[in-house]
Amino acid sequence: MDAASGGQQTKQSKTRVIRGGRLIDGNGGPVTKDPVIVIEGKRIKAIGAKGELKEPEGAEVIDAGKYTLMPGMLDCHLHLAAFNCSTFNNYRVSIWEVTPQLQMMYMLFHAQMCLEMGFTTLRDLGRATSRGPFVFEACAVRDAINAGIHVGPRLQVCGRPIITGSHLDLTLPRAAARNFDLTFTADGPWALRGLAREHLRAGADLLKTSVSGGGGTADEEPDVRNMTLEELEAIVDEGHAFHKPTAAHCFTAESHKMCVRAKVDTIEHMVFHDKESVAMIRDSGIPVTPTLSHRTDHAIEVRAKIGTPQNILVKMKKIQPYTFETFKVMHQAGIKIAMGTDLGPEPEIGTNAKEIGLYVNLGMSPMEAIQTATKNAAEALWLGKDLGTIETGKLADILAIDGDPSRDITVLAVKDNIKMVMKEGEPWVDKLSAQHRCVIQCELGSWKIIDNA
Ligand SMILES: [Zn+2]
Repeated sequence: MDAASGGQQTKQSKTRVIRGGRLIDGNGGPVTKDPVIVIEGKRIKAIGAKGELKEPEGAEVIDAGKYTLMPGMLDCHLHLAAFNCSTFNNYRVSIWEVTPQLQMMYMLFHAQMCLEMGFTTLRDLGRATSRGPFVFEACAVRDAINAGIHVGPRLQVCGRPIITGSHLDLTLPRAAARNFDLTFTADGPWALRGLAREHLRAGADLLKTSVSGGGGTADEEPDVRNMTLEELEAIVDEGHAFHKPTAAHCFTAESHKMCVRAKVDTIEHMVFHDKESVAMIRDSGIPVTPTLSHRTDHAIEVRAKIGTPQNILVKMKKIQPYTFETFKVMHQAGIKIAMGTDLGPEPEIGTNAKEIGLYVNLGMSPMEAIQTATKNAAEALWLGKDLGTIETGKLADILAIDGDPSRDITVLAVKDNIKMVMKEGEPWVDKLSAQHRCVIQCELGSWKIIDNA
């Protein structure tokens, strides 16, 4: 397929050389000086040091000698098509005002905002819309990027086999009708297998389900059970039958244990824990996404501004200390952590790298934190063969950063510091050369607020 068009073939065989100041390769070793990376087409052909590696003649040179080179980042958990909080004061108004078709445009825009901030891969964990599950639409955005007709990061999008009354069901109002073209909820192992098959047929890359209550819904306790082990096993088995992973939302120690027993592929969120759940996850090697961005005081303030009901804000504050404690316990126990933010229902998409700053505040070394958003994340998404580290043969997803994130992790969340974002050998964001390429053309925040007077 790659060689399908002559034009594309020429583009792919282009040879580029990046000269950097420092290299963080994603493997966790020490930062090296004066790296030279040779890229042929989409992939890394050679890595060496200045003066040692012979640069191929005629290659296009990208001079990033003042900057740190590191792998493109991945966010394993976000909601790109969230009600558009950028253009609405009140997200509860926007859920009924914005059509899924318009949400697709927002999804693409949000994905591009992340690409500009150094995220070359995103795993989108879906959305309930006024018209049902957002699966066909998310697949279309992914496919438009893959086809090269829109610039954006690599996307993985999900189908959502969930039960009646689960956390993800309650992200729609209780009173909303639920007879959509695509099945929204099902109960019992066989019905859930059917729902999973239907969403996979629509083109989903993975399954996302909900095993316990959650935080962002009004009158639901976060510690309720959302399905039986038998139902969870059916979903995971169905995904695996089609070579697709399952991501499982869970807040409680019991739901974490169910996830280990059912062999889910990633555990989403860390809120509550007990000794047994921590040991079981560690021994299983299943990666967990912390989604701490969703739990800070700042997140609560932002949610208050966009019309989040008081009872949800109170619940968010209540689970906050448990979350930070569980993060520390899981990190110290050696559980594999893959970066996930849960950004979406707040107008701050693009600031995803602040998440790993929170990990450092809670005791991780900056290098470990960088690995959660590179090597660990790529492995969690089954992309470790091609992404997550800068190594010969891997896809050339490479960033040039002003500053050294291994010393100061906060540099990654500042837009001015993201000097180059290369995805598969192409520098889509390039503030190094005279041509100055960027993806987003409008000034952030310059948009019209639709529900303003
Ligand atoms: Zn989420």
